[in-house]
Amino acid sequence: TAWTPAIDKALEARRKHLPNTHPTYFADPIAMARARDCLFYDERGLSYLDALNNVTLLGHGHPRLVDAATRQLGRLNTNTRFVYDTLTEYAERLTATLPDGLDVVYFVNSGSEANDLALRMARFLTKRDDIVIIDDAYHGYTTVVADVSPSRYRNYGKPDTTHPTPVPDRYRGAYGYDDADAGAKYAQHVIDTFDRLAAEGRPPAAFLYESLLAGGGQVVLPPGYLEPITAAAAERGVLTIADEVQVGFGRLGEAFWGFQTQGPGVVPDFVTMGKAMGNGFPMAAMVTTREISRAFDPAGRFFSTYGGNPVACAVGLELLEVVADEGLQHNALVVGQYLRDRLAGLADRHPLIGDVRGQGFYSGVEFVRDRETKEPASEETLTICERLKDRGVLVYPTGPSWNILKLKPPLTFTRGHADEFTDALDAVLETGW
Ligand code: PMP
Repeated sequence: TAWTPAIDKALEARRKHLPNTHPTYFADPIAMARARDCLFYDERGLSYLDALNNVTLLGHGHPRLVDAATRQLGRLNTNTRFVYDTLTEYAERLTATLPDGLDVVYFVNSGSEANDLALRMARFLTKRDDIVIIDDAYHGYTTVVADVSPSRYRNYGKPDTTHPTPVPDRYRGAYGYDDADAGAKYAQHVIDTFDRLAAEGRPPAAFLYESLLAGGGQVVLPPGYLEPITAAAAERGVLTIADEVQVGFGRLGEAFWGFQTQGPGVVPDFVTMGKAMGNGFPMAAMVTTREISRAFDPAGRFFSTYGGNPVACAVGLELLEVVADEGLQHNALVVGQYLRDRLAGLADRHPLIGDVRGQGFYSGVEFVRDRETKEPASEETLTICERLKDRGVLVYPTGPSWNILKLKPPLTFTRGHADEFTDALDAVLETGW
């Protein structure tokens, strides 16, 4: 029989057993063999710079994490009804990164579960059903969270209890970068939604937000946005949920949690987290106050078989220590800004670049066909990603029109990596796509 490359065999098997369930990046998908720090290596031995991985916070295969996981796997891994120190030690370390009062942790296994649980508690405690969100968000795949994720419910119809508010996008939205009050003005839309719903006799249970909008198109929340919303919510008995699944754990540089970049007055009732939490090891959590936890479940009947398992806790604990020991939040702040400065420099020569924005190592480069009309350059963006891949650089589009490069490298990304990325993008834009 004729020799078939491994990737063809793998793709054939995917078509059979995973027809639509596990989509792949790129027209010509990559068979990835291994990865280390900021580089991937495919089965042919070609290397790729990883600018798309917001799961791998510490870089791929970090030796301290590999050690922590394997040591714990060999020592004890069980469901969570036994007593082991890593669980409590980790919960203590994790809550120490959060504002006072947020001290009760529910360990789960995915960002979807964390949001699902927060919504369930908010609805139970307030005895209300309606949820206010920011448009174009994605909060996960379970039934409850798909119902508050516009990119999902658009396929089956918006649930009556979901209320999207305008994306506070200062590039495309009603209030721009030149408006110093943009944050307050976008916030007013959310507060007006609280009041409109209350007037209709259906005040909302919760406001669910991401601290930097990923699905919305890498939109940095304008200063002064979350503070008035948080205050208005507290006055009206609306609980707030910060979805930190994409941006938590120091990625935004200025603070460990994204909501903290909006000022000290922003303390959510629930914080949900996942992805980077285990550097790729599947784990997630929802953190809330003792008061909320007790009111929801005084008998302590919450149980997740794998949530907070010993290996996950060992990995999570080590990750927090590595972020601190290696100064990774600071690196995100400084090198993240350096990367954006270099990308903004390209805009002088490449009119396709409409906007460069972000915080720390979470950035977006928005491509437009015309800077006046801001017509999204969607096809071009995907082609640019393909051409970058040919040059050994991996990044992928995001946003409602898929015309924004979503840059989310490991926090170990260096200035050298930032230069490599920018030079490759420059070359692709120069030579055409
Ligand atoms: N919230 C946000 C902001 C996300 O980006 C995602 C995943 N992309 C989720 C929640 C869901 O997380 P998971 O895929 O771990 O269920």
